[in-house]
Amino acid sequence: MKTVEIREAFLAFFERQGHTRVPSSSLVPANDPTLLFTNAGMNQFKDTFLGTDPRPYNRAASSQRCVRAGGKHNDLENVGYTARHHTFFEMLGNFSFGDYFKREAIRFAWQFLTEEMQLPKERLWVTCHVSDDEAERIWVEDIGFPAERISRLDEDNFWQMGDTGPCGPCSEIFYDHGPEVPGGPPGSEDDDLDRYIEIWNLVFMQYNRDASGEMHPLPAPSVDTGMGLERIAAVMQGVHSNYEIDLFQALIRAAAGILGVDDLEHASLKVIADHIRSCAFLVTDGVMPGNEGRGYVLRRIIRRAVRHGNKLGATGPFFHQLVSTLAAEMGEAYPELVKLQAQVEKALLTEEEQFAKTLDNGLQILNDALEQLEGAQIPGDVVFRLYDTYGFPVDLTNDIARERGLTLDIAGYEAAMAEQRSRSQESGTFRVDYNDVLKLEGSTEFTGYDALTGQGTVS
Ligand code: ATP
Ligand code: MG
Ligand code: MG
Ligand code: MG
Repeated sequence: MKTVEIREAFLAFFERQGHTRVPSSSLVPANDPTLLFTNAGMNQFKDTFLGTDPRPYNRAASSQRCVRAGGKHNDLENVGYTARHHTFFEMLGNFSFGDYFKREAIRFAWQFLTEEMQLPKERLWVTCHVSDDEAERIWVEDIGFPAERISRLDEDNFWQMGDTGPCGPCSEIFYDHGPEVPGGPPGSEDDDLDRYIEIWNLVFMQYNRDASGEMHPLPAPSVDTGMGLERIAAVMQGVHSNYEIDLFQALIRAAAGILGVDDLEHASLKVIADHIRSCAFLVTDGVMPGNEGRGYVLRRIIRRAVRHGNKLGATGPFFHQLVSTLAAEMGEAYPELVKLQAQVEKALLTEEEQFAKTLDNGLQILNDALEQLEGAQIPGDVVFRLYDTYGFPVDLTNDIARERGLTLDIAGYEAAMAEQRSRSQESGTFRVDYNDVLKLEGSTEFTGYDALTGQGTVS
C-alpha cells in the first residue's frame, strides 16, 4: 500500500464510523502563543476539547501536518539517528468531542489495524497508564488482547500537548518489527531501540492543565488519537525504517541524483529528505527564515540540511531543487505546495546562498579547533565564534560534534554570549528582544540547550 493510499484508507474508515473529515490546519498554530508549531492532530481542536469552540460534529478525523523541532515535543536531534523520527510528519487522528470514550476508541483502532490493514495480531503490543485499569480491562476482555503483551507505564502513557492545555492518560499500540532489529518491548530497558515501534497513541482526554500545573476535568471526557502516517506506512510496506517507504525513497533518490551520491543508505541523505519536508511546508505556511522564533527554527533546519549536503560533496545550492520532487509526491494532498512551489524554492535558495558564503570558512575554523583539541569537548569560545561570525546555529555545531563523538562546552558558549551582550549594551548597540523567542521555545523545561539555540544571530 502506498503512503497516499493509507492516508485515504484511514480517513475513509473513520468517515464510515460517523466521523467528519476535517482538513489539516496550518503548521503555524492559530491564536496559540504557547505553541511553536502544530505538533499533533488535536491542536486545532484544543478549544473544542475545552468546550469553548463547539463544532457542528462530535466525531472528526484528520491527517494533520506536524513539526516537532522545538518546544515540548522536539525531535530535531533524533533525525538521522532513529528509524522513526522526523521533524515533519503527518499524524492520522480520530477525535471524539464528548461522544465516545475508551471502549470505542480502542475498538476502532483495533478494527482499523487488524481488519482494514490486516496486520498480524501477534506483532502488536499495547501500553496503558499505571492508573488506568479500565483501559487494560477493555483490551483484555473486549478485544481479547493477551495480557502478557500489555505494559503499564507512567509518563509515557500520559499525553499533553504542552505545559498547559488538554491532557490525559493514554493507551499506545506498538508494532514488533522482528528479532532481526535490536530493542526490547515497551517499558523494558532498551525499548528506545527501534524493534518495537510506537505506531498509535489513543489519548483519553480528561483534564485541562492550567498555568499553575493544576488539572481540571474537561466538560466532557473525550478522545484524541494520533498515528504517524510514515510509521504505519513502514509497517504496511514491510520495511523497518520510515526512510524506506515510497515517499522517502523518492526524496532520497532525488537528493542522491542532484548530489551525485551512490550510497543511498547514507545518513545525510535521510536528514536532507527529512528536512526538505519541514522546510518546504513551513514556508508554505508562511514562515520565512529569520533570526527569531519560528523563523530561526526554520533557518536552523535549512542550515543543517545545507551542511549535510556539503558533507556529501555539494558544490552549490541543491536543497531548493528537491521542492519539485516533494510537490510531485505530496502535492495531491497539499495543493498549496504546488501552487507556491516557486516561492518556496526561492526562499530556500536565498538561505542556501547566504549560508554558503560562511559555511566553508566556519568548517575550516572548526576543523582547526578539532585538530588542536585535547579531550572530547569543543570549547565554548569556538562554538560562540561559529555562531556569531559564521552563522552556525548551536545545534548544527552539535550535530557535527556528535558525529565525531564529541560534545560542546555550552557553559563556555553561554559565558561568551553574555560577555558580548554586555559589551554591546555598554556601547548602546541595537539589540533584538529575545523574550518572544524564549517563550516560544518553552525555555521552562530545558533551560540550557533549547533556550540557547532559540537565540538569533546578533548583528
Ligand atoms: P516516540 O515515543 O516514538 O517519540 P511520541 O510518544 O513522542 O513518539 P506522540 O506524541 O504519542 O508520539 O504522537 C502520536 C504518534 O505520532 C506516535 O505514536 C507516532 O506514530 C507519531 N510520531 C510522533 N513523533 C513523531 C516524529 N517525530 N516523526 C514521525 N512520527 C511521529
Ligand atoms: Mg517523541
Ligand atoms: Mg512515545
Ligand atoms: Mg506517544
